[in-house]
Amino acid sequence: MLEHDVIIVGGGLAGCRAALEIKKINPSLNVGLVAKTHPIRSHSVAAQGGIAATLKNVDPEDSWEAHAFDTVKGSDYLADQDAVEILTKEAPDVIIDLEHMGVLFSRLPDGHIAQRAFGGHSHKRTCYAADKTGHAILHELVSNLRRYGVQIYDEWYVMRLILEEDEAKGVVMFHILDGHLEVVRAKVVMFATGGYGRVFNTTSNDFASTGDGLAMCAMAGLPLEDMEFVQFHPTGLYPVGVLISEAVRGEGAYLRNSEGDRFMANYAPNQMELAPRDITSRAITLEIRAGRGIHPDGSAGGPFVHLDLRHMGEEKIMSRVPFCWEEAHRLVGVDAVHEPMPVRPTAHYSMGGIPVNTDGQVRRSGDRLVEGFFAAGECACVSVHGANRLGSNSLLECIVYGRRTGRSIAEYVQTRKMPTFDAQFYITEAEKRIQGLLNQNGTMRIGALRSAFQDCMTEHCGVFRTESVMAQGLEAIQELQAQYPQVYLDDKGTHWNTELIEALELGHLMVVGEMILTSALHRKESRGAHSREDYPQRHDGEFLKHTLSYYSAAGIDLEYMPVVVNRFEPKERKY
Ligand SMILES: Cc1cc2nc3c(=O)[nH]c(=O)nc-3n(C[C@H](O)[C@H](O)[C@H](O)COP(=O)(O)OP(=O)(O)OC[C@H]3O[C@@H](n4cnc5c(N)ncnc54)[C@H](O)[C@@H]3O)c2cc1C
Repeated sequence: MLEHDVIIVGGGLAGCRAALEIKKINPSLNVGLVAKTHPIRSHSVAAQGGIAATLKNVDPEDSWEAHAFDTVKGSDYLADQDAVEILTKEAPDVIIDLEHMGVLFSRLPDGHIAQRAFGGHSHKRTCYAADKTGHAILHELVSNLRRYGVQIYDEWYVMRLILEEDEAKGVVMFHILDGHLEVVRAKVVMFATGGYGRVFNTTSNDFASTGDGLAMCAMAGLPLEDMEFVQFHPTGLYPVGVLISEAVRGEGAYLRNSEGDRFMANYAPNQMELAPRDITSRAITLEIRAGRGIHPDGSAGGPFVHLDLRHMGEEKIMSRVPFCWEEAHRLVGVDAVHEPMPVRPTAHYSMGGIPVNTDGQVRRSGDRLVEGFFAAGECACVSVHGANRLGSNSLLECIVYGRRTGRSIAEYVQTRKMPTFDAQFYITEAEKRIQGLLNQNGTMRIGALRSAFQDCMTEHCGVFRTESVMAQGLEAIQELQAQYPQVYLDDKGTHWNTELIEALELGHLMVVGEMILTSALHRKESRGAHSREDYPQRHDGEFLKHTLSYYSAAGIDLEYMPVVVNRFEPKERKY
């Protein structure tokens, strides 16, 4: 059995930032960090457009209060305002801190960090490194991990959270290289396992974004918060779904329909292309539904709209958003200097997740905490994004709450003893699960079941939702889950058995999908990214509250928790 004072699962921005903070505060603590990929391949590396903070380098009128208001309004008033205050107040400091660590931000001619416009933000406050911001930050954090002596377990798959009597005691993990299992015992466990974009058939997320951390919490009996709020990013490149950053619109690109119109004038006349993502994704979906989408041959009635950069000119395109130009060129053969890009909404971000307080400690329920368990980043729900996240606020959340959670862990761990439990029990259970999958005699291919599941989620719980469609979706998912014991693995080996990992991930995806659908079915209102055609209005009287969903094999139970409203009273949202 391995032992650490702190074991962090996840090597993206949130996990790395927390690990560094713990080691900076107390170098004698023994910190381990596990990732199923190499940490540098975490999805954070793909973040493009930037990270918000009121540095006031471009816009001296900006303030943390304005950032907080934009965030709360963007969240459709579901964000917890105490958590948003921390996020926006600490933002300038964490950026300077990253800069001192060596992150190469893009600069203004006078040498200050450059800042650009982003959807839903009232001022130019998004700091960036061209359109490779995640890459710039993650590389710096990971090289600092080594400097501070964090032990890295890369390409280990964590398959279970060890939770006994509401106390986290460790994890069970599987070495992808050679298939051996280890139990890790730790005074504190932290999850920073990222999102679940792969629940849907079209997503901007990487293949590893399978919601493992969420599923492991749910299967251990812990609640997940606000799972109905899934962000669909307006500009996924058609047909592949990879992201064309909002920075492209931040730098001035237009959205046009088959008639060549900038249709956002009909949906958000003031903010136009820089309206928040939920509004823009709905607008694109409605244009396509109304027959004003475009076909690959240029005719009307097709499945995408155009993102037009041509008026921006080659110099600006190539210096501010070179990676987006390259993606469109490489993946669909479009040269955005001369032709518009084909785009449509793509599943992008998880507003919900593991409920935590503002110190990053995981909640057992509305008013109880779990001992020894913390979470931060996209897998957590603190909740700063409420029903809809603003672009460039997620990297910020990872860094602000990664650092904060690291600080609270460094303090908390001092009073903790190393927990005791029967490690062999967990090894035996994990061996059984793996052998069970390897020996299954079914006929179903993993890829086929996964595609059927992803299609089902996309069709029944996408940008627009209704009761009957979601209820059918839930039944269909339960049927697909029943087929899981029928999956067949070709690879029975122990070394680099990626098929086995895919089988474990599929099990997790299906748990997460069922929780999204169930939470969505019971929120009978439209708020932020959750848009019900049968309940088109927001209904604060009944639904200004967070959903907590509890998983069990018998079905999912829901509870609700109040929203912290201490600064901005809910109002109608107009852009
Ligand atoms: C294409 C794209 C562009 C984006 N651009 C921006 C942007 O410009 N600005 C912005 O604010 N936000 C952006 N976002 C969102 C933002 O990048 C993410 O929300 C954020 O980076 C998530 O970081 P994280 O640390 O929570 O998790 P991730 O970076 O996703 O890392 C998760 C980690 O957990 C590990 N892990 C997961 N499950 C297991 C397991 N079972 N066992 C072991 N390890 C496990 C993974 O290996 C990985 O190391 C973008 C997202 C995408 C997809």
